[in-house]
Order: sequence, then structure tokens, then C-alpha cells
Amino acid sequence: MGPAEGIRRRGFRKWYERELVESHLFLVSAFLCLIAVVALLESVSTAEGRAAQAGLVILAAAAGGVGFRAWYQFQRQLARAERFGDQAHCPACDAYARFEVLAAGEPARPVEDGMDHPWIKVRCRRCRREWVME
Ligand SMILES: [Zn+2]
Repeated sequence: MGPAEGIRRRGFRKWYERELVESHLFLVSAFLCLIAVVALLESVSTAEGRAAQAGLVILAAAAGGVGFRAWYQFQRQLARAERFGDQAHCPACDAYARFEVLAAGEPARPVEDGMDHPWIKVRCRRCRREWVME
């Protein structure tokens, strides 16, 4: 579910809160994977037989891959939530998180930082001013 749909469904405040919680669960997952990698690699020296050792190394590599992916997702989700959070004040009347979603989309050209940059056009519920969060 994209951010526009999440905001439309839950309202900005709840969406934002949830994004922060979710992103930090990815952070915890990344940390647990790191611990697993260290534990698996430590047990390689005491494992009996080459097959068992190779299995442990493969498991450690897999845990490392999952952990890296979780770390990436943590950063991506947190950055996006903060970017939208910074733009949630109405530029005209300064009302916070009091807007409705009018439209949403992706940028015409990909931005080169590897993150996704969806934009959301919104309208203030208080003064009707429209602006674009991106
Ligand atoms: Zn306003």
C-alpha cells in the first residue's frame, strides 16, 4: 500500500505513527539478523564436519542478506515518513495533518538516491489551500 492510500484510509497522524513503528521493527529485525550472523559464524569452528560448517556459513550469509534488506527498508521507510511529516503543515494556515488526499503519483524521472519519491497532492480541511507533498 502506497503512502497516499495509507494516509487516505487512516488519516495522516495514524499513518505517520504506524510508519515510525513499522520502520523500527525493521531496525530490530536487522539487529537480530546481525546477532544471528555473529552466532552462526562463531559456531563454525566448533561444528563437526565440512558439510556442517558450510551449512552454517550459508545460513550466516542468508541472515546477513535478510538483515541488510531490513536495514535498507528501515532507512527508506523512516526517511519517507519524516519527509512527509515535514510537509504536513498547511503552508497557508499552518494547520497540522488536517488535509485530504486529492491525488498521488510517482515522479516522472527516478530520483538518484535509490529511494522512492511518491508525491501526494492534498487540500487543507481548514482553509482549502492545496499543496503537494513530495
Ligand atoms: Zn490551511
